[in-house]
Amino acid sequence: MTEVLDLLAERTEAIRAGHLESTGDCWQPTDWRERIHAQFPAILKAPWGIECGAGWADLIIATCDILSHTPEPPTLTDVKEKFGTLRIYSRSVQSMDDQIIDAAETLSGRICERCGAPGERRPGGWISTLCDAHFEERRL
Ligand SMILES: [Zn+2]
Repeated sequence: MTEVLDLLAERTEAIRAGHLESTGDCWQPTDWRERIHAQFPAILKAPWGIECGAGWADLIIATCDILSHTPEPPTLTDVKEKFGTLRIYSRSVQSMDDQIIDAAETLSGRICERCGAPGERRPGGWISTLCDAHFEERRL
């Protein structure tokens, strides 16, 4: 489990670093959800789309990338935020896939859902994972 988590964290960080380098900032393009769907049409079949903040885009890309290279890639039927972390619902046949999906949920609890910076789960009426800056902003 730790190995899977490390692998996913590394991949996510690499994607984020590439994104920061090419765009100069942390923000995702407005059509980031469509882009991810277009990038992984074989596994991502979420009829309601991706229901979470753009800060987790790089994490979702990393997760889909790793999942699409397993021996029998799963079908992802829903990708959304719930209680402050990322939930990915799948029809998977391999325990390996479930481990990767669990790792994505764990990792999302350390990544700001707004901007992708390091964050933590914040209590309140609506539990969410935010960096310090976005947590401050929410309190205003
Ligand atoms: Zn943030």
